[in-house]
Formats: sequence, C-alpha cells, structure tokens
Amino acid sequence: MTPVIDDTHDPARRSWVESANRPGCDFPIQNLPLGVYCGIEDVSVRIGVAIGDFVVDAGLPGGSLNAYFALPATQRRDLRKALVKKLEAGSRPCELVPQSECSTWLPAVVGDYTDFYASIHHATNVGKLFRPDNPLLPNYKHVPIAYHGRASSLIENGVPVRRPNGQLAEGKFGPTRELDYEVEVGAFLGPGNALGEPIPVARAREQVVGVCLVNDWSARDVQRWEYQPLGPFLAKNFATSVSPWVVTAEALAPFWVDAPAHDVPVLPYLQEAGSGALDITVEVWLRTKALAEPHRLSRGQFKEMYWTFGQMIAHHTSNGCRVRPGDLIASGTVSGPEKENRGCLLELTSKGAEPVRLPDGETRTFLEDGDEVILTGYCQRPGFARIGFGACRGAVLPAVVG
Ligand code: CA
Repeated sequence: MTPVIDDTHDPARRSWVESANRPGCDFPIQNLPLGVYCGIEDVSVRIGVAIGDFVVDAGLPGGSLNAYFALPATQRRDLRKALVKKLEAGSRPCELVPQSECSTWLPAVVGDYTDFYASIHHATNVGKLFRPDNPLLPNYKHVPIAYHGRASSLIENGVPVRRPNGQLAEGKFGPTRELDYEVEVGAFLGPGNALGEPIPVARAREQVVGVCLVNDWSARDVQRWEYQPLGPFLAKNFATSVSPWVVTAEALAPFWVDAPAHDVPVLPYLQEAGSGALDITVEVWLRTKALAEPHRLSRGQFKEMYWTFGQMIAHHTSNGCRVRPGDLIASGTVSGPEKENRGCLLELTSKGAEPVRLPDGETRTFLEDGDEVILTGYCQRPGFARIGFGACRGAVLPAVVG
C-alpha cells in the first residue's frame, strides 16, 4: 500500500497552539507524534500528542501505544484527522501541558527488540578498523544482519546510563573504558503476523507504524572480547535509549524516497518495489560538564542505509518468526560516506586513534562520566512542513565500584 498524502500534510495549516507554528519547530500540526506522559499535578499516565512546546491528551485508552500500533491503517488515519481538527487554528482550545513539566515514558511495552546493522558505511568503517584488507564481510550485501536485543534494558529519554562493568579482556573485569553511543532510527511494528507466516516484502513497509530515535549505548572493549562467535551480548544490553515521541507512519507519508541501488542482486524475498527508504536526517550532540552548549558531533542521512525497514521486516519474518504490535526494530548505526556522517565514536575517532576536539579544547576518544549524548532528527522536503523527532537524551553516570 502506498503511503497516503492527504490534506493533513498541507503545509499552510496552522494550529491554535502558537509555538507549533514557529519555523523550525519539531512538532507542527503536520507532525502530531504520540507518546506516553504524565504531568506534575495530574500524575496519571496517559497517551499524548506533542504539539509545539506542549502535550495534549490524545484521547486514547491505556498507558502504552501497543493497542494503537495494532490498529488498521484506516483507523490510525482517522485518529490523525481527528487530532488535526482538535488542534488546528480556529478550534476551541483544550488543556495543554508544557512538555517541560511532563515526564515521558517508553512509548510502548516492547515485547521484543531487534537491532540491525543496515548502514553499509557503518559496516565498512567498523570493518576497516578490524580488517583493513577485507572490511565488508561476504554476507553483507545478501542478508540483513541483526542480533536480538533485550527489551528489559530499553530506557526512557533522560534516564542516565550507568557505565557498565564487564570483561575487558582475559583476566580483567571492571568499568568499560570505551563507552560509546550509536545513533539509530527505530521502527515500532504493528499489527504483526501469526507465528509461521512470513510478512512478504511487498507488505512489510506497512508494518512500520511509528518511528523514533534510538541510542544503542555500547561498551567497545567488552564487545571486542565477547563478540565472537555469537555476536554482541553484554556490550549492548545494559542500556538502549528510546526517544519519547513516536512519529507516526501517517506523518511520514511524504518522506519515503528511493533506497540506494544495490550492486549485488538480492534474493526475490528481499526485492522491494517502490520507495523503501525514509528521508530522515539524524544528528548527534554532546554536552560535557565543561561545555555550556551542546556540540554537534555528526549528521547522517537515514535514506542512505543499505537495507530498508521493509527488507529488515521481510527478512526477520522470513522463517516465520512472529512480530507483535509494539515490537521495536532498530536500524543499526546511521553513518554515511564522510567523516561528519559517522554515527558513533568508534568510527569518528577511528577506534580512539583520532580524538574528537570540542570547542572548549577538551577531547574525546570515548564517553566520560558526566557526558550527555543528545540525538535529534527531522524530515524536510520542499512543499511540506518540516517535522522533527524531538530529542533523545542520556547522560553517563560513573560505574558501580566493587
Ligand atoms: Ca547498534
């Protein structure tokens, strides 16, 4: 099914919430991302929609988006139309809660979380650091690579990350010395499939019902020691931050573009017609204890990923694996061809050999205690309103000693 562009995407539309009409605002009336929040006074947890600097009760039952993700696309579109009507200029104002006074929670109860490795630039850059002569493994252009992550260690925006202890090499256990972030794009899935019934690639994109930003915190020294032969384990499952506002598939309809061409043909079950890539710009910002303003470390283009969400979902379910509403798949680090596009410190600093210099003279090879990593993202296209993803923040706490 082709994503539907309709009058909810009209860039001329304005909201009675004035801050939503500000140029550059992440949450104009054309966006209407959903999240789970509670206020300071009324602490009941509910589903809200972000508009400008505020949150409005979305009028959906429950304290998670799982039931919303299970809805058919027609009902999700109806809800978007109703929210536009409620929030557009001229409608009667309703109660607004400032985002600065809200707590936000994980948008869904995530049953399963899978992390892909879909950027060929990331795979090549990382491969080069370990295998200069043969950076890309021979399977890369044939099979979307992933590992199963832990839903239990997904954390809300703003929750600090405790530097993990781990095995750093034979005979050594202690705090990681190579704590890193990875900027990724996440897809919340729905309605899912029955066990044993693969989702064909032609229908797989429809399963992406909402998109968020994901920070896949990583301990590189732990990863290097443990990853062979079964892949990442404790280097990855201590914390994964998820942004609070889920940009809906409906809001993203104008931003599908053609994926990069493959030079190696893929098997028929992965051959996807139409525009399978999402045009999202992602940025990583770092704030240190000494830096007053966050400093931008990188900017990447999600549309440059080698594998699309549709291909990832078709592959994931090709053996009959079940995916359920609220399952989360992450894309893998979003990196591009240039140094400024590298979406983690491992790549940016060439494994620590080339430290990043910050505006106040500090340098970083990997993250230090007190550092805060802020992910942001946005979509823009001529003729449409710019929509943003808000921020996904996490600061590093010292390791537990002992
Ligand atoms: Ca990752």
